[in-house]
Amino acid sequence: MRFHSYTALAFLSLLPASLSAAPGDSITPDAVKAHVTFLADDLLEGRDTGAKGHEIAARYVATQFAGMGLTPANKGDWYQRVPMVEIKPNADAQFSVNGTSFEHLKQVVVSGSAGTSGARVEGRVVFGGFCIDRPEYGLNDLKTLNVKGKIVACLSGFPKGMPSDIGAHLNAEKAKILSQRGAIGLISLRSLEREKQTPWSRVLEYADNRSVRWANADGSPFDTSPNLRASATLDRAAADALFAGTKRSFADILAEADTKGGKPKPFDTGKTAIIGRTTALTPFTSPNVIGMLPGSDPAFANEYVVVMGHLDHIGIKPGVTSGDAINNGAMDNATGIATMLEAARAMAANPNRPKRPVLFVAVTGEEKGLLGADYLSRFPVVPAGGRVVAVVNLDMPILTYDFTDVVAFGAEHSTLGPIVAAATAKDGVALSPDPMPEEGLFTRSDHYRFVQQGVPSIFLVTGHAGPGAKAFSDFLKTHYHRVSDDLALPFNWNAAAKFSRINMLIATEIANAPETPKWYADSFFGKVFAPEAAKAKR
Ligand SMILES: [Zn+2]
Repeated sequence: MRFHSYTALAFLSLLPASLSAAPGDSITPDAVKAHVTFLADDLLEGRDTGAKGHEIAARYVATQFAGMGLTPANKGDWYQRVPMVEIKPNADAQFSVNGTSFEHLKQVVVSGSAGTSGARVEGRVVFGGFCIDRPEYGLNDLKTLNVKGKIVACLSGFPKGMPSDIGAHLNAEKAKILSQRGAIGLISLRSLEREKQTPWSRVLEYADNRSVRWANADGSPFDTSPNLRASATLDRAAADALFAGTKRSFADILAEADTKGGKPKPFDTGKTAIIGRTTALTPFTSPNVIGMLPGSDPAFANEYVVVMGHLDHIGIKPGVTSGDAINNGAMDNATGIATMLEAARAMAANPNRPKRPVLFVAVTGEEKGLLGADYLSRFPVVPAGGRVVAVVNLDMPILTYDFTDVVAFGAEHSTLGPIVAAATAKDGVALSPDPMPEEGLFTRSDHYRFVQQGVPSIFLVTGHAGPGAKAFSDFLKTHYHRVSDDLALPFNWNAAAKFSRINMLIATEIANAPETPKWYADSFFGKVFAPEAAKAKR
């Protein structure tokens, strides 16, 4: 039995029960279950960004916000309509090296560029190692390599032994940096590590999915690497062929990259590649849904705390002619939205409002590349003078077991760490360190777009203590982004209510803290994204 700390207080005090009930006590397992049941219904067809099912889900969230008395946060509107562009690859993919062709969806996966309607590039292939230029981590891959006008072949990931969240960040910005230096095409080479994490068969499964970007004012897709006009990912056989007869075999490069700190040196392969694919662009819009709980202290009125989860999922599985084709996204991320909604309801019903205003946000386009969060982080709906001071992101908490700890990815980078730990302790739940640093999860969900704008953020999930580790790995292996992520999963709705209560405690703690959260002075992310901001000592 869980001995609720508030219940303990109720026993000790002689106050009437109605006065001693804690706000979180109103969060019931049935309430969370009801939201998940609606959002994961087949009728919503997997809530794909831009699809009717997602629009219905957005109406649901907005009417829930309205019913609990939140304020429509976008100048009186519940919705922030995000302009988007769908990019559909045409069936004209081509990839060749020195005249030898490799087949798309067999040995290679070819992608067109995001920013234009695709292109065909032809150029000299230079090998760039991991393609990371960070002298402070001993990486100088692009220092002597001229990539201008070239196609650059890069190992995926980052050297073994590098802190995973930093490595994941550096990996994610490779394309942008190569583009800035004038590269025209990118070839991704899968490391042994990457092949272990995601087998080639899984890469092929996702290969020709439509992709989506948010749109600039002129309607063009927002693109951080406009010079890279085509890219390809190679399987082992194609990569072996690319390096055949050059100064190093691919097997040799892979072996070096697989050792701790191994950093294969860049060199010119002397070969020429052609990468080509055109795309068709279609504009549409999709909403972020935003409700505000006003703060109680005018001194903190401009400091907004964001609690956020993604409402979109991946929609209907293409090419299925019989049986279940609907990716319901019950765990990913109906659970995050449901637990956020109940936390919001409990906070809105509490006469003791937190000092700072709190924005509850159901973002769109997470599955397409954190798009709704990126848009909101660049175009925040807060009134002039206001700013977002902290973000708590809820994405795919595994709610199938009675968790005893939670993980807040990013907690070690800012004073959000101790704030979150103090909040979870109120419910007898421990805050554990990242149990799977190799996954680089801090950079892989919506809060990261706010990190990139300098805002201290965490990404909260249920922890790995007890049955947690197995529950997480089972879900990831068997149900993640599959049609079986649905209501047939063995949900523990008591745990779901507890997770919602934890959300409420964390949001309240941040909103009432004497100071806004600060990056620690030695945090990589604080240094890179908030160089001017005041920092905290550990
Ligand atoms: Zn997902």
